[in-house]
Amino acid sequence: MVKSISVLGCTGSIGRQTIAVAEHIGMPVAALTANRKIDLLEEQARRLHPKFVAVYDEQAAKQFKIAVADTDIQVGSGIEGLIRAATMEETDCVVTAVSGAVGLKPTLAAIDGKKRIALANKETLVCAGDIVMARAAEKGAEIVPVDSEHSAIFQCLMGREKGELRKILLTGSGGPFRGKARAELEDVTPEQAVKHPNWSMGAKISVDSATMMNKGLEFVEAMHLFGVTPDDIQVVIHPQSVIHSMVELVDGTVIAQLGVPDMGLPIQLALTYPQRCPSMFSRLDFTTLQSLSFEAPDYEKTPCLKLAMDCARMGGTAPCVMSAANEVAVGLFLRHQLGYNRIYDAAASAVEKVGVVQNPDLETILAADAAARAYVLENFSK
Ligand code: MG
Repeated sequence: MVKSISVLGCTGSIGRQTIAVAEHIGMPVAALTANRKIDLLEEQARRLHPKFVAVYDEQAAKQFKIAVADTDIQVGSGIEGLIRAATMEETDCVVTAVSGAVGLKPTLAAIDGKKRIALANKETLVCAGDIVMARAAEKGAEIVPVDSEHSAIFQCLMGREKGELRKILLTGSGGPFRGKARAELEDVTPEQAVKHPNWSMGAKISVDSATMMNKGLEFVEAMHLFGVTPDDIQVVIHPQSVIHSMVELVDGTVIAQLGVPDMGLPIQLALTYPQRCPSMFSRLDFTTLQSLSFEAPDYEKTPCLKLAMDCARMGGTAPCVMSAANEVAVGLFLRHQLGYNRIYDAAASAVEKVGVVQNPDLETILAADAAARAYVLENFSK
């Protein structure tokens, strides 16, 4: 079990749930970082007494510093602030719950400092999986996934040799529009898209779950985390979200991890691993579970999933370009500036037009990320 954590992105959905878990299990919080929601950040900081708080936005950081001037909390800003929060001596686990490529540099810095990474930022592995995993192996830093599917796979593989795994069965609920044809989704509103049947999540990831881009990003994430190829991962639709993912072993045995769909569970395990402790979450009651069902994904109805799997095979900067383009497109959609079906169009078009660089270094990845964002803003915003 780690002794003290830094939470990067503490005002988002995962950040807030991490803080709730930390308070429940009595885990000290050494540092917090947020982008610009300083009211909530101040409330959290006064309650948790971290040594250091970073506000990414410079202007908001100045306001925050004034707001907590009566405390001894140290305040930083920008990417340097995030890196300091990720590398402080007081912390031995960094929860990376920021969204977007901004998480990359702090995560690498934390790895260099041999911190445990409780990984909740998908872009870190989607954009720079090769670099991050190689660096973690070199430095001996642990990466414990927070995403429920990857936490499930991680748990199914605990104590197993690499050669025992035959394939990963990555489950997904299919989201709120499961089974609907693309033509039926033309007029979907942000309000409809963010209503996930099982999970309570932030707006961006809820839209990604509706388009199934989320499952596609998780596909890429799983490849890197578990050192497998695209052929070793099968996506299975499981609408009830009771099984959080499974592994098939070489002898045909399948091991699944089950639980209530609550992100608090994988968050808690990422902090207490390799130990477990009692949690505040509700329990599965098998006598009231009516059925668990499974189906194959329909790639025509979920082209974002297919695109992500294609990008995983392309490798290089393809997943990064796709992910960055998707993030901007989802932002436009949430502001009613882009139609629902155009999210896929924007991501696919960016991969084609921005182009793919193989074996990129970190700067090339960040440049590809920026190029994809600019491309979508220029060609897809109304
Ligand atoms: Mg997930």
